[in-house]
Amino acid sequence: MSEIEGVFVQYPSLLYVVAFLVGLLIGSFLNVVILRMPPMLEYNWKRDFADYTEAEFKESVPPGIALSRSHCPQCKNQLAAWHNIPVLSYLLLRGKCYFCQNKIAFRYPFVEFLTALLTLFMAYRLGFGWPLLAGCLLLWLLIVITWIDIDTYLIPDQLSLLLLWLGLFFSLFDFSLTPEQSIQGALLGYLSLWLVFHLFKLVTGKEGMGYGDFKLLAAGGSWLGPELLIAVLFMASISGLLFAGLQAIVKKGSHKIPFGPYLSIGILVSYLYGTQIIGIIFPEI
Ligand SMILES: [Zn+2]
Repeated sequence: MSEIEGVFVQYPSLLYVVAFLVGLLIGSFLNVVILRMPPMLEYNWKRDFADYTEAEFKESVPPGIALSRSHCPQCKNQLAAWHNIPVLSYLLLRGKCYFCQNKIAFRYPFVEFLTALLTLFMAYRLGFGWPLLAGCLLLWLLIVITWIDIDTYLIPDQLSLLLLWLGLFFSLFDFSLTPEQSIQGALLGYLSLWLVFHLFKLVTGKEGMGYGDFKLLAAGGSWLGPELLIAVLFMASISGLLFAGLQAIVKKGSHKIPFGPYLSIGILVSYLYGTQIIGIIFPEI
């Protein structure tokens, strides 16, 4: 580790280039997870339900995340290797499928580019070392959670609980917070939103959030500790208001807005700038 670290300390621009390229490749993989995980979960739920009710179950297995090659969703042609280069293929193909000329969703290169850009920014902010590696795992999981929540209004337990376990795990090492802080953060994260949810329901009779959001904030708490949860909720509210304002101006969009993406933004920004945000909220401390 120390030799590699020496090289990156001497040539920080090399670290940024590596971070950007790794980000592009990971972003390409995240697209696959975002696309294939929800149908896979739905298939499993239906199969379990059929098992439980002893009904007949005939649905075919949806494509898995790791092993199957990419196909065009419209013409089903298998993509060649050069159609799969992140962002670049989209530009070379001018946003159209090589076989059927149907448009490729802009979201694929967008997620790839966003992942690369944010990974680069993490490298710039944290430098080479364990906090950067941990932070990248946090970032990549939050990107998947954000897009699956936008698509399906669900935050899969497989993702939020993995994030929670990772937060607890990293607290065992001295580059992160202490295990006490991590456990307190997870408990407080879950309970605070749980409380807001039930108070809101008691007063208005409506459900403003879901249990997935509680688990996501519990995960955030395990990474950040109890104090920074205030920064997370502050940043989540600000980004939520900003997007709501934008939506009102464009006058487009649905009535139902998932909360997960804003929580994700709050968690990520607090991982990088938590203490600074607390300083802005409570300037006297
Ligand atoms: Zn096609």
